[in-house]
Amino acid sequence: MPSSPRKIALVTGASRGIGLAIAKQLAQDGFDIWLNYHSNHAAAQAAQKEIESFGAQCTLLPFDVADGAAVQAALNPLLKEHTPYALVNNAGIRKDNLLLFMQDQEWNAVLSTVLGGFYQVTKTVLASMVYARRGRIVNIASAAAHAPVPGQTNYSAAKAGLVGATRSLAAEVAKRNVLVNAVSPGFIETDMLEGLPIDKILPLIPLHRLGRPQEVAAMVSFLCSEKASYITGQVFQVNGGICM
Ligand code: NDP
Repeated sequence: MPSSPRKIALVTGASRGIGLAIAKQLAQDGFDIWLNYHSNHAAAQAAQKEIESFGAQCTLLPFDVADGAAVQAALNPLLKEHTPYALVNNAGIRKDNLLLFMQDQEWNAVLSTVLGGFYQVTKTVLASMVYARRGRIVNIASAAAHAPVPGQTNYSAAKAGLVGATRSLAAEVAKRNVLVNAVSPGFIETDMLEGLPIDKILPLIPLHRLGRPQEVAAMVSFLCSEKASYITGQVFQVNGGICM
């Protein structure tokens, strides 16, 4: 692969929803995109086309972020040639249930995708960033990390864990000029909201509407820009005021 004059951003879970909006925004900001997704090839190919229309290169990387061997098999060959400037750990799932009824599979799947995915992908990419002495890592957390959500003990635990990991990693790599922050969205209009009682949720949001994926992407764009060069170890909430 010829060396790219543009910076590279690896965005996980970017075939749809918030990840797609982030990938599109970063492409418009001048990044080439390494676009990870799980299994929705049609959505990923449509995303690639859209991103390339902004003049960016877009490399599709289908793998399960929770599968360490798959993560390394996909990324290590690319990392031999290139060092991403930005990593956005966005891939996530929810499997809601009251703890009393929760199945091991529901607990494990959410923890291994959200928290395990952060661990596997970040660990694989981090050495090259540290060596380059520059980089930005943005972890997509959730309002559920900060406020109680009955039915989401698995998701809340994973997202609160991600916030803790963000701060500790930020302290570990600051001296190597790798900046690590988290963005915590509230209710954002994506496939993930399917099945939720939106009519009951809306009155709880001070801005009285769901958020748009681009509104999360704008914060990530800022955190990956030169303007954010003195910000690390922080958590930024983009949530219409639902959690203040
Ligand atoms: P969507 O369900 O719309 O999209 C999920 C994306 O993640 C898809 O690209 C999917 O790939 C990918 N993905 C899922 N599991 C894996 C996996 N194991 N490995 C790799 N990729 C995977 O989600 P959202 O855009 O709504 O959410 C994005 C992030 O934002 C998540 O971390 C979520 O927890 C967080 N968030 C979302 C909120 C919301 O209201 N929407 C609120 C707060 C936080 P594929 O297309 O192949 O299935």
